Amino acid sequence: MDILLASGNEHKKEELQRLLAGHTLHLPKEFSISFDCDETGLTFEENALQKAEALKKAVDESGKEELKDMGILADDSGLFVDALPGELGIHTARYGSKEGEPILSADEKNTLLLKNLKGVPQEKRTAHFVCTLILLKGKKKYVATGIAEGRILEEKAKGNGGFGYDPVFFCNDAGCSMATLPEGGKDLYSHRGKAVKLLLKQIENN
Ligand code: IMP
Repeated sequence: MDILLASGNEHKKEELQRLLAGHTLHLPKEFSISFDCDETGLTFEENALQKAEALKKAVDESGKEELKDMGILADDSGLFVDALPGELGIHTARYGSKEGEPILSADEKNTLLLKNLKGVPQEKRTAHFVCTLILLKGKKKYVATGIAEGRILEEKAKGNGGFGYDPVFFCNDAGCSMATLPEGGKDLYSHRGKAVKLLLKQIENN
């Protein structure tokens, strides 16, 4: 299936393309399509649906025939840190910046997170990533959510794999930081990897 990804994030595209081997992922910008989405939902599912529908509208309005039959995929994800209730979650991308301010870089967000957890003992540093995927294909809508459990490290890991909060996230299933896994190693354990597996199962059963 040719799939348009409702994102401009190259890291997500790279991960999702690996996970969806056998399908071909495209970014809207490759077809000069731009779309706006405010992400005002209260859940990952609401935000993912907003992204998918905003892209669908932009595709319909573009009149581009070659895009008409493509699937539309949206991903919304975030990190929950138990010692900081309500601070990240659906606000994960904007952590550390106020409404209207530019968002911090991933490295700045990781530094801030470590600072805010300074002195919190290991057993209280529990955290989990969540990813919800929505695929629109014709009149069908598929929804899948994956979770990765772990904890926030006391300092940034040395590896440079993954993106975002990966350098400060110790993944329980992998037994190490997401950032120290070799390329593709993250896919087995990540919230996104688990969500894709569930999504593929749904597609196969239809
Ligand atoms: P969004 O889904 O693009 O809104 O991303 C939400 C936030 O979570 C961003 O700050 C991302 O960098 C972060 N994030 C999402 N997925 C991952 C991941 O797999 N690893 C690390 N950070 C992630």
